[in-house]
Amino acid sequence: MSVTPLSHYFDHNATSPLRESGRLALAGGLDESWCNPSSPHSEGVRCHALLEDARERFAAIFGGAAERLSFTSGATEGNNAVMAFFHAKTDSRGKAAVSAVEHPSVLESAKTRFGQNLEQLAVDENGVLCLDALSSFLSEGKAILISVMAANNETGVLQPWSEAQALCREFGVPFHCDATQWLGRMPAEGLDACDLLTGSFHKLGGPKGIGFLRTSCEDSVRLLYGGHQEGGLRAGTENVPSILGSLASLEEAIREITDSSNRDLFEKRVAELIPGIQFLGAEANRLPLVSSFVLPKFDNLRWINRMDRLGFAVSTGSACATGRGGPSHVLAAMGHSPEEARRFLRVSGGWSNATDDWIALADAFGVAYEELDNDEGESQVISL
Ligand code: PMP
Repeated sequence: MSVTPLSHYFDHNATSPLRESGRLALAGGLDESWCNPSSPHSEGVRCHALLEDARERFAAIFGGAAERLSFTSGATEGNNAVMAFFHAKTDSRGKAAVSAVEHPSVLESAKTRFGQNLEQLAVDENGVLCLDALSSFLSEGKAILISVMAANNETGVLQPWSEAQALCREFGVPFHCDATQWLGRMPAEGLDACDLLTGSFHKLGGPKGIGFLRTSCEDSVRLLYGGHQEGGLRAGTENVPSILGSLASLEEAIREITDSSNRDLFEKRVAELIPGIQFLGAEANRLPLVSSFVLPKFDNLRWINRMDRLGFAVSTGSACATGRGGPSHVLAAMGHSPEEARRFLRVSGGWSNATDDWIALADAFGVAYEELDNDEGESQVISL
């Protein structure tokens, strides 16, 4: 079985390989801190202390009170819980708004809960939320919740979440931010101002299946009913080893936050090799190690297969890559046609890629382009 070397893995926005620091903390937790933190014996008490210490350290990063931070199974759970909670609180007049480029765990759960009472806020051609659209929605006076992600998973484009939060504060409307792609890649400063914050840790080199929801609204969001864990907000035995692994990975990721020089180098080189390539969000602020683009020719699945054969893992960033769902709603919101969306690719690097890997990636794109062109030339000759 062949496994892509981590240095050639460029799909960190889907998930990131586990960092060594995270692996050590996770393994240490599995070996030594596997007890139920609710157990009354000394081992249980010790695990409980570790859990609460970790919660404090997460809260120190994200802001807000530690007791308002609940661990979840990932960002999907937190995002769904936010929508369910606010929907349950409102009468038929209350409206919610989310940006049109949210992750499906926000967009689909908001549509399911709010139906006609959901507004999708427009983005510009770079995929950046139009603050005017938010402002006029808030001015209608019916808003009960606004949700805007921190960074987009498909394009890496950063959203003006801080400005959106400030606007919501002016209107007294709760503001939720899905920070899944931001965490560990951009500084956490300012996230404390968000009334509701969700995320997970596997995009930054932490374990999968673990995330969080932090609220600072008046009401606490109740996630799961049953036992009294997580201050009564989420029933179920806490996953202490994964929480410890996540904390170690997050703290390391924050220490290693990088600039965009490798990505910029890649884009410059690939633009020389593939004339006509169109980088998305090029005029906007983006995550430093994400590049998404529309290629001049060939469907994205052909590119992915070809890059795979050359030893590189890249992605389309949306479900249509695997034949599920239609063209990306993110690209559609940015004004791209379904035909352009089929030529869309996303490259997302992370801790496992060095400068040389980015250069090799660009060169592999050049080779893939030549090979795809040759294939096409040959098939035309055969069909003559
Ligand atoms: N939000 C965003 C922006 C994401 O990129 C993802 C993961 N693709 C999620 C939410 C869902 O995260 P999880 O896999 O932890 O449920």
